[in-house]
Amino acid sequence: MHYDNKRFGTRCIHAGQQPDPSTGAIMTPVYQNSTYIQQSPGVIIDDYDYARSSNPTRKALEANLASLEGGRHGLMFASGLAAQAACIHLLSAGDHVVLSDDVYGGTYRQYDKVFKQFGITYTRADMTDMNATESAFTSKTKLVWLETPTNPLLKVIDIAAVARLAKTKGALTAVDNTFATPVLTNPLALGADIVSHSCTKYIGGHSDVIGGALICNDDDLAQRLRFTQNAVGAVSAPWDSFLLLRSTKTLHIRLQRHCENAAKIADFLAEQKQIERVVYPGREDHPQHAIAKKQMTGGYGGMITAYFKDGLEPARRFLERVKLFSLAESLGGVESLIEHPAIMTHASVEPHLREQIGLSDGLVRFSVGIEDVEDLLADIQEALG
Ligand SMILES: *Cc1c(COP(=O)(O)O)cnc(C)c1O
Repeated sequence: MHYDNKRFGTRCIHAGQQPDPSTGAIMTPVYQNSTYIQQSPGVIIDDYDYARSSNPTRKALEANLASLEGGRHGLMFASGLAAQAACIHLLSAGDHVVLSDDVYGGTYRQYDKVFKQFGITYTRADMTDMNATESAFTSKTKLVWLETPTNPLLKVIDIAAVARLAKTKGALTAVDNTFATPVLTNPLALGADIVSHSCTKYIGGHSDVIGGALICNDDDLAQRLRFTQNAVGAVSAPWDSFLLLRSTKTLHIRLQRHCENAAKIADFLAEQKQIERVVYPGREDHPQHAIAKKQMTGGYGGMITAYFKDGLEPARRFLERVKLFSLAESLGGVESLIEHPAIMTHASVEPHLREQIGLSDGLVRFSVGIEDVEDLLADIQEALG
């Protein structure tokens, strides 16, 4: 059965999957194998000859995620960064990338420390400013890479506007949709060419698997990405694919609660005297609230950034005192996490660049989970003490 004409929640649960043809098992099995028998040399079943190239568990997940993003093709990788690297492998030495200035620390590190040495250069741009974005292009620009909402400043970038600009320049637009998830934003529908995910975060949702995905519509682009997936080889393992396939069944429900809880906590934080500023795309005081309203459907996500008034020390005390929020890197799980980007997730971004974009030492990032919000609010209140 095809589910492409069904609604989002139905696709979360069913798209890409069918009962196992050999037993009727309702869940796609973990096909934990490396190779497949051939009837005669080169005569294979479907496209199964070797499991780096194709695996039924992974394939079901790829089809599921493609459906959720409204794309024709999905590709699974061993991590979000492996997925992103596959995108950069579309490029050649001499090519140039326009990168949003506030990206995941590991994304910046990959461009700056890994691919620069192969002659792929990049320019960072504040993509909330279209003039600044346009002036970052060169005649060699082949790819625009952005995240929205950004990490950790939660800037909201107008995907449709950036994609339109990139098209006039002959460059592809890739959107890291990890924070918004396909529940809240569908970049392909807004004109992006590629969607990327760290499935480690909301897609997985249970803090128990590392994975990455790329989704696209164009057949030729998909073929080039699939070539890299197989030729470079950072594929998602069968067991990890199984866990993610199980996770996507509740993605829509989880996100709904993440959004509800985060909206309440953001408003609560904004009223506290120790907090200078709260950044949450759903609040009217967010600088790009109008774009968020237009671009994000059904909510504004589970991430909140708050600036403590007196910098590092009050922020550190707060982070030591919270009990229900766990002090840890990562985000997007059912449990609430909290972290200090300048010391933790974004330590790989040099201090002067952190300062340039406003990633200061008083900044604390909340990944609001799906616990009862009253308990989360009480925890914050006690820790602010
Ligand atoms: C975590 C993260 C990544 C990297 O994903 P991994 O699965 O850890 O490799 C990329 N982008 C964003 C926005 C992330 O939060």
